[in-house]
This record gives sequence, structure tokens and C-alpha cells, in this order.
Amino acid sequence: MWISPYLSEGVWLRGSFHTHTKVSDGAHTPEEVLFYYRDVCRHPKDPWAAYKFVAITDHTTNTHKEYYGIPASTPEFSVIEGREDSFGHHILGIGCPMTFMEDEIGKYKDDYTVEDDQKVIDKIVRQGGMAILAHPHWAHMDYWSAEKAAALNNYTGIEIINGDVFSGPGHLATDIWDAALTVGKKVWATGNDDFHGVRDYHNAWNMVLARENTPEAILDALRQGSLYVSNGAAFDSIVCDGEWIIARCHTSSIYSNTEKTFRFIGEGGHLYGLQMGKNPYAAYRRQGCEKYIRVEMALDWGYAAFSQPFYTAEE
Ligand SMILES: [Zn+2]
Repeated sequence: MWISPYLSEGVWLRGSFHTHTKVSDGAHTPEEVLFYYRDVCRHPKDPWAAYKFVAITDHTTNTHKEYYGIPASTPEFSVIEGREDSFGHHILGIGCPMTFMEDEIGKYKDDYTVEDDQKVIDKIVRQGGMAILAHPHWAHMDYWSAEKAAALNNYTGIEIINGDVFSGPGHLATDIWDAALTVGKKVWATGNDDFHGVRDYHNAWNMVLARENTPEAILDALRQGSLYVSNGAAFDSIVCDGEWIIARCHTSSIYSNTEKTFRFIGEGGHLYGLQMGKNPYAAYRRQGCEKYIRVEMALDWGYAAFSQPFYTAEE
């Protein structure tokens, strides 16, 4: 029997967990960043399209404290505090305080060992945050290799899509995510703009199913995996029922007339199920040998949505 990471009810909230401001190398102040995410992107007929939250995650290097400040959340829009630990390999800390202090480890970038990266993750967790491995394929490099993702512990997620235009064409990192899932890490996919300026805006985001629109509820949803990743496609629902996992495409005219490819993917990236066509939903029946199954839904114009893995209950 499958267990869903998704809440059984709640509100779908679109947002990004990776955003820079003038505090580090972004082009805009925190308030200006909110203008783009909270005020510009509105679509009254399709509330799905409006952003509902953003996490401010400036680099811990190169900081300009004078711009620092987390704008207040409103009932319609949540602002989450965080940072991108950047002395070594970049790791997002979500729901933990920004730090301006010098590096505790005293090394830089390439000198960081897996043990040093683990110290950064553990510090984020000690401060109440969740750690996400940022842009695994940054600039064509093996930035976070499958071996590192498998060796590290205590992190919550991997950024499977990074929208920074400088992250290179190899930014899709489901391979690193599958490698971590395959060795038994229960880590969730996130997708983010890595916003530095409008060049990065609107490229990748998360649809979080949370009990309400507050920073606390969004963090709780991230912790349990109640979110999916998108760069343009949308699910209406991803549910399980006994032996079945059922994914349903968002119902609107542009989606229903589109060819969709549903892939049901398990350990090692193995393709367990495939459905192509205009059918708005696809269902997968458990075979019994899967470690996990996650759903990818790609539209024929290239956009896709990525569910979290479903695991089976101990029987
Ligand atoms: Zn970043």
C-alpha cells in the first residue's frame, strides 16, 4: 500500500525557496524582490498562477548588511527567512537565520570535504532550518555528485531544477535525486528560480500543498514532502489509493489539448510505467518490487512537473 507525502487537504501555494537580494549578489532589495513575486505575477482567472510565497536566501559571503531585512508576511503572501551557505558548496538553509559571520570551517570551495559539507548541513538543522543541496549541475560541473548526495545525511531536499540562467543547460538534476533516493535517502525535490534579477524570474517553482498560507505551514509541508516541482506544467492532484498512484493534469483548455507524457520512475531512474496521449490523468499499479515511485508529467511543449516519491507502508 502506498503512502502519500502529500497532505490530504489544504491549499496549493506557488513559491520559490531560493532568492537573492542586494544583501549578497542580487540586483534588488528584499522589498523589490517581493514586488516581482507578490505583485507582478497575477492571474485572476487562474489563482494557481500567482506566487504565494518566497524564501529569501542570500549568500553568506559578499554580504551587504545594510539591505538586510525579511519583509513581513501577509495573509496572501508568506516570506520565509533563510540563507545560502556559500563558503563551501552551496547549501540552502530554509527556515533558519541569515548569518554574516566568517566561515567556521576556515576553508573555501574546493577544499571542502564531504565531512565539511555535512557540518554545514548539521548547523542549518541545529538552527531549526532545513538543508537543500543547491543546483547539483551548476555550470556543467559535477557540483553535487551522486556519491556526495548519497554520502551526506540530515538534509531535506535537492534542487532538481535551478532557474539561474547561468546554471547551464544541464540544470535538471533528477539523476542526482534518484541516486540519493536509491540508497535510501528520503529527500524531497525542490525547483527554484535562484533569483538574482529578472533574468532568472519565473523559470522554476514549487507547488506546496500546505494547511494554510503561513511560513510555518509551508515549512511543515516542505518537511513532509507535500510539494511538487514545476517549470510550467501543473498537477491538479497526485494521490494514492491502495495499490494505485494517480496523477491528474491541471484542467484548463491549454492543458487538455496538449499531449502529455506521464512517467512513473523508481530506483536508479528505472522507468516502471509510461503513458502518452491527451488523457488528463494516469494511474500506476504497484508491482511489489519498487523502492519508491515518483511521477513526472511532461507536456509536449517541454514543460514538466515532478512529484515527490511515494513509498510503500511496512507490511
Ligand atoms: Zn543561489
